[in-house]
Amino acid sequence: MEIAPGVELITVGESEYMDGFTHTPNVYFVQGSQGVAFVDTAFGKDEEQQAYLELWKSRGSPRVKAIILTHRHGDHIGGAVRLHESTGGPIHAGRVEVEAIDAELKGAGVSVPVGDGATLDLGGATLEFIHTPGHTLGSTCILLREQGVLFTGDMILGSSTTVISPDHGDMADYIESMRKLLPYDARLIAPGHGPMVHNPEAKIKELIDHRLEREEQIVALLRDGNSTIDEMFSAIYPALHAGLHNTAKSQIRAHLNKLEKDGRVERSDGGDYALR
Ligand SMILES: [Zn+2]
Repeated sequence: MEIAPGVELITVGESEYMDGFTHTPNVYFVQGSQGVAFVDTAFGKDEEQQAYLELWKSRGSPRVKAIILTHRHGDHIGGAVRLHESTGGPIHAGRVEVEAIDAELKGAGVSVPVGDGATLDLGGATLEFIHTPGHTLGSTCILLREQGVLFTGDMILGSSTTVISPDHGDMADYIESMRKLLPYDARLIAPGHGPMVHNPEAKIKELIDHRLEREEQIVALLRDGNSTIDEMFSAIYPALHAGLHNTAKSQIRAHLNKLEKDGRVERSDGGDYALR
């Protein structure tokens, strides 16, 4: 499906993603006059590979200038090695994420680590890499300048709120990264999962507000004497699907980590939290 001139969205199948949700990864094919790039590679299933290669061959097997991985998670990097082997395209990823991705990929690893602000010219289609830590510490968004299309991986999703893993990511970085994206004036967000976002500025502001509101909610709960993640979880998510409990608790932990870093919260030796 063409989402903008020269940009195709490829989604294959329905995949179980966290209990209760189906969340097929989005893969994008960007075409310029001198070459093409893939953005993300889904899980690496046979039917996915077949779909990518069919599309690529239908365009005359143009030179693949990059297979870009937005971040380290398996539903984005799973097809990278096979796609590299079939097309010869070099695997690109944000510099900070390279080590984690190479540890996951079997066979070829990342051959082009990209820094913040690096660009790749496909011929009338310029991709700019933007270092946007948060969901993971090396998450990268990519702007197709000519069309104003912003590929966000899991930093911004089409219809749900992304997970800030306290182990792979960072809430303070996430909010900073969202602010960093605003001046790029994207016209369309092409997320790693879910539908296209046609009002990027409003969406980004909404995501920042949502996180800051949740942060203040946690501060208020601490003020009322709630001191553990379990207590805060019961107050914030009274009727959440059981399969999402651990994810929700890790979101609270990510917020508490940020508040600790900001100097607003301290953690006792016993693991309880309190306002400073
Ligand atoms: Zn992810």
